[in-house]
Amino acid sequence: MAVDSKVIKKIEAAGPMRQLMADYFHELEAAADTGSAKVAWCTSVGPAELLRAMGFLVYFPENHGALLGTSRVASDLIPAANAIGYSPDICSYLTSDVGSWLRKSTPLTKAFGMKGVPKPDVLVYNTNQCRDVQDWFGFYHRELGAPLLGVQTPRSLGDITDDHILSLVAQYRAMIPELERIAGVKFDIDRLRETVASSYRCTLGWGRVLRSAQHKPSPMTFFDDTIHMGPAVVLRGDERAVKYYDILFAELDGRIKAGVGAVDGEKHRFYWEGMPVWGKLRENAQLLGSRGACVVASTYCNSWIFEALGDPDPFVGMAKAYAELFIVRDEPFKEGYLERMARDFQIDGFIYHDAKTCPNNSNNRYGMPSRLATKLGIPYIVIHGDLNDLRLYSEEQAATQLEALIEQL
Ligand code: SF4
Repeated sequence: MAVDSKVIKKIEAAGPMRQLMADYFHELEAAADTGSAKVAWCTSVGPAELLRAMGFLVYFPENHGALLGTSRVASDLIPAANAIGYSPDICSYLTSDVGSWLRKSTPLTKAFGMKGVPKPDVLVYNTNQCRDVQDWFGFYHRELGAPLLGVQTPRSLGDITDDHILSLVAQYRAMIPELERIAGVKFDIDRLRETVASSYRCTLGWGRVLRSAQHKPSPMTFFDDTIHMGPAVVLRGDERAVKYYDILFAELDGRIKAGVGAVDGEKHRFYWEGMPVWGKLRENAQLLGSRGACVVASTYCNSWIFEALGDPDPFVGMAKAYAELFIVRDEPFKEGYLERMARDFQIDGFIYHDAKTCPNNSNNRYGMPSRLATKLGIPYIVIHGDLNDLRLYSEEQAATQLEALIEQL
């Protein structure tokens, strides 16, 4: 299928963002090499603020997983993890990351000149998103001997109750003595307050960027979002992320004022539900853009908006923020959320990505697409694929389905 390769518009803020990400990784490498700071590995929606407030530099293996996906090396690395008993059916972030470790090969070398991933002084997970993260970090615990700490969050929640929050706050507090021992510093509640406040400012900035896509035409696509969310994932709690989103928003606001859309002649506005297909971002952006279709919103990128971090108690704010997430919630909550998003972003169609190795982020499996289509009168398609394992994705089939969705409109 012929697609126009010129449909993707450059975002100038990508330059400062690349520099920021390079600085972040170089700081991690220097800390791991010299011991100038301790390094914590954390799951993407784990208690990063607590770790940062205790002086750790924080590295996120899921971010590395996404890098393995975008650089299209994941499918070659997954078999190495399969060979030591990690099933091809479990999270392909996990299997590609473990494969990358076993093969001693990382895209961080080409992208940032790094020797490898920065070695951890502690591993901290949160099961709010899935069980895979616990097993993933368990691998590195056995491999590297770094202490393993975790937060157990209940899942499929409807209302978040005080009991949920109390339990989570207690778990965060229980980690502190061990983190103090590893970091060699005393916990300081004022430092946590400052870090959570900075993380909240980052949320406000990132939220403002994503909401700019409510404008018609949208100044940004989901495919742009997946790249520009980097600082919100790895640098929340660091003021540089806050500043970055001011720069990015100013550019998007300029586009809005000038009437410039991310997709020329925007005709259709879509919602992406589920994980990105990391190795095919560009192709999907080109295909949709060349048909005047703009993916204006997604659950995935909105998952790094943590409104609850504004709570006056930083522990309560973290507990709420990391329990209120879409991925932690039950079907009625998710359905209501998607309904609101469809309304707020004036969505014409839903694209559900059923990622084979991530049931946790595949929300098409229990009848929701059809229920929502009936309720809202909005068509949908389900693309079967994967976040990282491109052997599970058929570009041709996805293109046919995307075309079919556009045809319906
Ligand atoms: S939520 Fe999905 S992609 Fe993320 S770590 Fe868990 S299984 Fe992997």
